[in-house]
Amino acid sequence: LEREVTQSTKLEAVGQLAGGVAHDFNNLLAGIIGYAELLEENPSLATAVRDDAASIKRAALKGADLSRSLLTLARRNTRRDELFELESMVRETVDLARRTFDRRVEIELTAQDAPTIRGDRSLLSNALLNLAVNARDAMPDGGALHIRTQLAPLDEAFRTQHALPTDVPIVSISVSDTGVGMSDAVLEHVFEPFFTTKAPDKGTGLGLAMVYGTVKDHRGAITISSAEGEGTTVTMYLPCASDVVSALVPRSQPAMARTR
Ligand code: ADP
Repeated sequence: LEREVTQSTKLEAVGQLAGGVAHDFNNLLAGIIGYAELLEENPSLATAVRDDAASIKRAALKGADLSRSLLTLARRNTRRDELFELESMVRETVDLARRTFDRRVEIELTAQDAPTIRGDRSLLSNALLNLAVNARDAMPDGGALHIRTQLAPLDEAFRTQHALPTDVPIVSISVSDTGVGMSDAVLEHVFEPFFTTKAPDKGTGLGLAMVYGTVKDHRGAITISSAEGEGTTVTMYLPCASDVVSALVPRSQPAMARTR
């Protein structure tokens, strides 16, 4: 529990910093990107110069990516609130991963239960994509990436431990890979903003911090189990929309009635 408190304090600090800086930073980068593009496309310049301009543009685009991530962290309390079907969101995200990932990463989807969720569809899709990207990065020579959604048969103790609501069913979305896994030392820090073991041009260390923030904002929880050299499973737990709970709960269980 102590770790959770520290975690959210760090997220808040990053969020505040980001709110003040990322927006202006983005405007500066837009200038750099625009002028680099003009140089890159100027036919009267030598090819070597235009190549250098292209490199400047690429680096600035990376910076823009990073500041977008920071803005996502900063805007944690302005998320959208909509009802959506989990299954279509997950399928779309998996399709995107299938189109863009190395073919040696085999992506399997098992959508056993995929209920209606209330929250920000695009933030949750982004969170899932982040987990899939991490899974891919953990398997540089290829492997199996399995995404599963199912209603979680959770006991009270688990819900209490992770501060999950007790009045609605919980759906779990897990992302498993057969990759390198994590050491205990890495596991301990993975949710911290800016913690990364990847090369500077590859990782920002904001992926899991963003996923954590998004899941928490949806009154959910996240767990990781990992074994070095074997693989990792990251599971997000999300409360189902209470508006539609009656459709999911068998009639024999009136105790789970809709409360908000
Ligand atoms: P980034 O991906 O930019 O490094 P993240 O916050 O998403 O930032 O991840 C932090 C670190 O956690 C990674 O650098 C990596 O060491 C570790 N990690 C995350 N997901 C996995 C995974 N599926 N398998 C192995 N290591 C992982």
